[in-house]
Amino acid sequence: MSLNLYNTLTREVSPFTSITPGKVGIYLCGATVQAPPHIGHIRSGINFDILRRWLLSSGYEVTFIRNVTDIDDKILHNAIHEEMPWWALAQKYERVFSAAYAQLNVMPPTYEPRATGHITQMVQLISHLIDRGKAYAVSNGDVYLDVRSLDSYLALSGQKLDDLQSAADGEASVKKNPQDFALWKSAKPGEPSWPTPWGDGRPGWHIECSAMAQAYLGEEFDIHAGGLDLIFPHHENEIAQSNGAGYPFAQRWLHNAWVTTAGEKMSKSLGNTLRIHELLKRVRGIELRWYLGSAHYRSMLEYSPDALDESAVNFRRVESFLKRAASSLGKLPELAIADEFAAAMNDDLAVPAALAVISELVRDGNNASTAKDSATLAIKAAQVRGALSVLGCDPWDSTWINSDAGLDEVISGLVTTLLAEREEARARKAFASADRIRDRITELGLTLEDTPDGPRWSR
Ligand SMILES: [Zn+2]
Repeated sequence: MSLNLYNTLTREVSPFTSITPGKVGIYLCGATVQAPPHIGHIRSGINFDILRRWLLSSGYEVTFIRNVTDIDDKILHNAIHEEMPWWALAQKYERVFSAAYAQLNVMPPTYEPRATGHITQMVQLISHLIDRGKAYAVSNGDVYLDVRSLDSYLALSGQKLDDLQSAADGEASVKKNPQDFALWKSAKPGEPSWPTPWGDGRPGWHIECSAMAQAYLGEEFDIHAGGLDLIFPHHENEIAQSNGAGYPFAQRWLHNAWVTTAGEKMSKSLGNTLRIHELLKRVRGIELRWYLGSAHYRSMLEYSPDALDESAVNFRRVESFLKRAASSLGKLPELAIADEFAAAMNDDLAVPAALAVISELVRDGNNASTAKDSATLAIKAAQVRGALSVLGCDPWDSTWINSDAGLDEVISGLVTTLLAEREEARARKAFASADRIRDRITELGLTLEDTPDGPRWSR
């Protein structure tokens, strides 16, 4: 069975075919780097990282673009508040986002363009739209897209133009239609600006993604992804700009749902408490990733501390099966894909069904282990590890091994081995050897204590 994916544009699940056989181009709207991320932001990164990993596992070559919006009203606003230059604020939070993605094992994008690095492409695209009669500059230096000049506008969100409120950006008095939106905003005193044929100014948010997607993926590409809240106006306007310029743009649109609390999209105040570093005090990174990836990407994920804890317990059950299997097999399990897991993932990335498959594989693996059927155990363990790898949760992935928790576990394994050798040396009265082992351990900065229950160490 091949991959079927939902398309927001057609509102149905349909077989996925890439434009170029064997290759997939994906554009994901990345962060506006105005503040640190909360789990709602990172969920989008994880959902589409799972898509990317599944495509890779299915044999595709994937070009994955995730942009950084580093110029925006909110960045300018927060920069004043934090008393630093806007570009310094943007870089500060871009780093925090990058660290959060890395901590949760989200693969780095193939390219990660910043908006401010692509002003030339934006100005070219706007000029092209003006030449084609789809956009117009007004006397103050703003440029607007003339939404009534387009054959189809609002196909993605299914709204009617006449029902639409006027676009929030720009000045109503200078626009041809109230729904026209700004491609370029004329310079305001104290704000950053770039020179253009229409005067100094800065880009509107939507034009950034149209220009960057085209720069890296061409005039037509396979998949455009983002959060549900971006369908309108952001994605609708991206389509309007790119189609208006004569480009087919994205063939398929994928949108992930939100993390909710009490049924609502995460509020700013609550978002503060659900920052990645706060939750990493409660569970390990691999467990947080497992939790954030566990719901279907189009379903809301209702956050509660209990739900997170329960999900972490479920993950540990799978993980400990794999570790027991590794020690009884005497080697790490291979990576294999079970047919049932593939069927679930090919069904519009049905992760909940895929998790049910993993539970069954673990149960079968445990039964094989009890029956001392090591051939079956090896197969089941490989299929579990393969599934975890697609979900970004393979315990032996270097991200997790190199994390603090992973490192502690590696150290713990090594120290336990050394201590066992020391005990053995003492048992055969080779005290000099035993002391040498103890000295080596303490030289490495670990504290060793002999207790009635045996030796205990700490970092
Ligand atoms: Zn975007």
